[in-house]
Amino acid sequence: MSIFNKLIVTFLPLVPKPLVGYFSRRYIAGSRLIDVIEEVKRLNGLGMCATIDVLGESINKLEEAETPVNQYLEVLETIEKENLEANISVKPTQLGLMLDYDACLSNHTRLLESAALRGNFVRIDIEDAATTDATLKLYADLRKKFDNVGVALQAYLRRTLNDIRELSEKVDNLNFRLCKGIYIEPRKIAWKDRRIIQLNFELLLEEAFKRGAYVGIATHDELLVWAALKVIHKLNLPKTRYEFQMLLGVQPELRKIIVEAGHKLRVYVPFGEQWYAYSTRRLRENPQIAGHIFKALFTPPER
Ligand SMILES: Cc1cc2nc3c(=O)[nH]c(=O)nc-3n(C[C@H](O)[C@H](O)[C@H](O)COP(=O)(O)OP(=O)(O)OC[C@H]3O[C@@H](n4cnc5c(N)ncnc54)[C@H](O)[C@@H]3O)c2cc1C
Repeated sequence: MSIFNKLIVTFLPLVPKPLVGYFSRRYIAGSRLIDVIEEVKRLNGLGMCATIDVLGESINKLEEAETPVNQYLEVLETIEKENLEANISVKPTQLGLMLDYDACLSNHTRLLESAALRGNFVRIDIEDAATTDATLKLYADLRKKFDNVGVALQAYLRRTLNDIRELSEKVDNLNFRLCKGIYIEPRKIAWKDRRIIQLNFELLLEEAFKRGAYVGIATHDELLVWAALKVIHKLNLPKTRYEFQMLLGVQPELRKIIVEAGHKLRVYVPFGEQWYAYSTRRLRENPQIAGHIFKALFTPPER
């Protein structure tokens, strides 16, 4: 970690909350549902679709899952009512994954039933490596009943090639988001070298496409955008087999270039009351992003 990033993280608790709010507004739509509606309408107007994330932490008691489940149900209703081009992204630990698998399955089932009624889709985010097995089981179990669900996989994990092979044998029409991975994992289970992670991302993408999967290509790394376009070109894939995905506030120019070239692009839009806990926790977990946030303080909040 650079001294600069370390300093930012050390002094973060001293930064007044409104200032944290100021710099995080580039990355977070706001705290209310109305904020996210406005943001998604704006993105839709730019030819981009969205995936909405209700911010929240991993829960400690099962009852705590009721709040995010109800919030997500409200989001699904709102997407339909406001005619938004958007789906939802859900963190399984927020719905009880590490407390009670069956309860978590039933919480996801409630979301999927509502999404299915409205012709919508639920993406299951992938979290730290302690949750990977349970998350992939959750996805495979849900797929037995629903086809409007997808999961996410991380290119930094050494196991992912095997996960793609196993999942594509278990599940018809495998649908996943491929990202590098945001958590700090031990070298034993995760590639650490940036270049190896890039090469692995490309390898995984090609393997997934050859196995018939639909992939959400989630990256702001221009080399990987190029590598993805290369694989798409090489395999002569139709536009219905993939979409690009980026986080709100990150690389808006690259986003525009991809959309103007005629590819589908989805923006990940987090919102909710828990924006402060989310912003500060992410910074403590991965201080590498401190530099991005510091830059955001001094540049206008283009999203
Ligand atoms: C739509 C989406 C969903 C994701 N879902 C998950 C998930 O479910 N599980 C998970 O573990 N990870 C998830 N991630 C995070 C992902 O794993 C990476 O940590 C993150 O995208 C950075 O990797 P990168 O490929 O963009 O490459 P990088 O090399 O990290 O970034 C490339 C360039 O993008 C810019 N950039 C990247 N991140 C930021 C940032 N936060 N702020 C400002 N600029 C930035 C910088 O200019 C950087 O040079 C998701 C990412 C996206 C885009």
